[in-house]
Amino acid sequence: MLLMQVDYIIVGLGLAGIAFAEELYAQKKSFVVFEDNSQNSSLVAGGMYNPVVLKRFTPVWNAKEQLDVAIPFYENLEKKLNDTYNYKVNIYRIFKSIEEQNNWFAACDKILLQDYMLPKIIKNKNKFVMAPFDAGKLIHTGRIVVNKLAKDYRSFLKEEKCLISESFDHTIIDIQTNCVHYKSIKADKIIFCEGFGLKENPFFNYLPMREAKGELITIHAPDLKVAYLIKSAIFVLPLGDDLYKVGATFNWTDKTKSPTEDGKNELELKLSSVINCSYKIVDHIAGIRPTIKDRRPLVGLHHKHKSLAILNGLGTRGVMIAPLMAKKLFQHIENSRVLEKEININRFD
Ligand SMILES: Cc1cc2nc3c(=O)[nH]c(=O)nc-3n(C[C@H](O)[C@H](O)[C@H](O)COP(=O)(O)OP(=O)(O)OC[C@H]3O[C@@H](n4cnc5c(N)ncnc54)[C@H](O)[C@@H]3O)c2cc1C
Repeated sequence: MLLMQVDYIIVGLGLAGIAFAEELYAQKKSFVVFEDNSQNSSLVAGGMYNPVVLKRFTPVWNAKEQLDVAIPFYENLEKKLNDTYNYKVNIYRIFKSIEEQNNWFAACDKILLQDYMLPKIIKNKNKFVMAPFDAGKLIHTGRIVVNKLAKDYRSFLKEEKCLISESFDHTIIDIQTNCVHYKSIKADKIIFCEGFGLKENPFFNYLPMREAKGELITIHAPDLKVAYLIKSAIFVLPLGDDLYKVGATFNWTDKTKSPTEDGKNELELKLSSVINCSYKIVDHIAGIRPTIKDRRPLVGLHHKHKSLAILNGLGTRGVMIAPLMAKKLFQHIENSRVLEKEININRFD
């Protein structure tokens, strides 16, 4: 029996699902979302956005285009959900050597970077931060509190009666020529925003996801008194109330979402080269980043079933990438706008 007819079904409500849902609201399309809490990348993310690759001082791929869409996107969500999610946080990149200091000044001259990188060396005055070669400062960077945003967005969709809190079963989709039937729902399209859940999706699991597990600890360090993100062997991100998020690990073999003793030890070892005050670990979390072999997102329609599409592969930078990719996917589906080769899933056909 058909009970509901919508334009779209979205599977997954992490950053990708939220971005696509917002695009559908903006374009006055109807939809429902399935979410089963099987993945948690967005829920554990540090949430930082920053257009500079901090290892090499080069611009992040397409950073300007992404930020131009992302910042208003989060501002709109703050208005819509009546809360704050975007916090400005400067980044202090600790230098490892004189050579790195020189590389910093060279990078500061580049057009795309000069708005963010200050062309001077910031003397380290905090005795608990280990920075013998001092630091370079990045401005106009920040943090989205993704965990809070994702939880609030779920509550919002629940109230709107658009959220179905159950697992989506790919094996029972009835694919017709111009639409799909799923249980009692008829929709024009299904958009899969499943993160690492892609592996369970028989329509798209041929795509080369090279997922990377990440672990983070939260520490209470009352002596540290730092109001900026410290980037060294790892990052130390101030959360307020003397709490700091410390991360993150990269593990390409462990596919579980649980925090591990090895992950904690690795973070503590690295942390001991960044700060030298006492602290207590108050939280330890882990999640799987949906990273792709070529480090680019997965956007596009299924090569055979044109009612099925994907928005995935947000990798290590979902905060910046998700809103722009959602717009591009929508325009592709509704207005046949061509997707760039480097994001279109047809690059793997
Ligand atoms: C430790 C760590 C730190 C990070 N730090 C940052 C950072 O500082 N800045 C940044 O930009 N990015 C960061 N990231 C990356 C960022 O988290 C990801 O790019 C982004 O969250 C991916 O969003 P997503 O919606 O694609 O996937 P997810 O957040 O995993 O969402 C997928 C959703 O789909 C649901 N789902 C899957 N299958 C089904 C199904 N069959 N039925 C119903 N629901 C389903 C899952 O439950 C999940 O909610 C970090 C990631 C990790 C792990």
